[in-house]
Amino acid sequence: MVFSGLAERLQETFKKLKGKGRLTEEDVDQALKEVRRALIGADVNFKVVKDFIARVRERAVGSDVLQSLTPAQQVIKIVHDELAMLMGGTQSKIEPAPAPPTVVMMVGLHGAGKTTSTAKLANHLRRQGRRPLLVACDIYRPAAIKQLQVLGGQLDVPVFSMGDSVAPPDIARAAVEKARRDGNDLVIIDTAGRLHIDDELMTELQNIAQTVKPNEILLVVDAMTGQDAVNVAKTFNERLSLTGVVLTKLDGDTRGGAALSVKAVTGCPIKFVGMGEKLDALEAFHPDRMADRILG
Ligand code: GDP
Repeated sequence: MVFSGLAERLQETFKKLKGKGRLTEEDVDQALKEVRRALIGADVNFKVVKDFIARVRERAVGSDVLQSLTPAQQVIKIVHDELAMLMGGTQSKIEPAPAPPTVVMMVGLHGAGKTTSTAKLANHLRRQGRRPLLVACDIYRPAAIKQLQVLGGQLDVPVFSMGDSVAPPDIARAAVEKARRDGNDLVIIDTAGRLHIDDELMTELQNIAQTVKPNEILLVVDAMTGQDAVNVAKTFNERLSLTGVVLTKLDGDTRGGAALSVKAVTGCPIKFVGMGEKLDALEAFHPDRMADRILG
């Protein structure tokens, strides 16, 4: 399970701290050294760790903490709050556009889980009463259009496609018009991915964005790729002004570094996490609950 290594190490550190009763500044520093090592071991970005430890230390060595009756508890609470802040503070969601449909554009590299997440998101938001239309804008892989149609069929959610010979921005525009006519209040656009970031891909995504002015541009990244996922997020954000990240494969054996670094490095919150291959395995991301899980 994600974070199990990190959780184990932090819980051990804090158990020792709780055993001490009164705390000195040195005790706190010793514990923070262990926290630092645990975070680095979980593949959290080095600079993110450095800033995190500095913030926690500043709050934790204050006399009101050290002289309180339960200093260890307070230090743990500070770490908890800072972990939640690191991952994005309050929970993020998809706000409905003032004039429907709300347009969500899904972007990401090939294999990250973009098409699956497109369908999962439709399923998730439909449960909240939205009426989604999926749009197949990955015209370069015929299998991608088919894949979206199959997933849409499984969910009984309509899929808009114009085959592979119409330019993606035109497909996206036509889809939004259709949604308006048919009363679909949510349009989720699946776009093309590549194995690596390239200029052509970015230009096409920018063209789609300029054409339909999406309310959300969500980047889908694979948590298993660790800091690469964070670098991908940084590059996409520079070109596309992302509104959020969908972090997939968090059910796998990932150390979790991406989850803890994406927001701090890119400024984009993680909005959803993929927890499996099934179409109901998408969850809204709750930083505070994730921090609870890490600290046990
Ligand atoms: P795309 O190329 O980005 O559109 O990727 P796909 O949506 O085709 O997904 C690639 C593979 O990752 C598929 O086998 C998916 O079933 C799998 N996948 C996607 N999301 C998750 C997830 O959250 N957990 C797991 N375990 N597998 C996932």
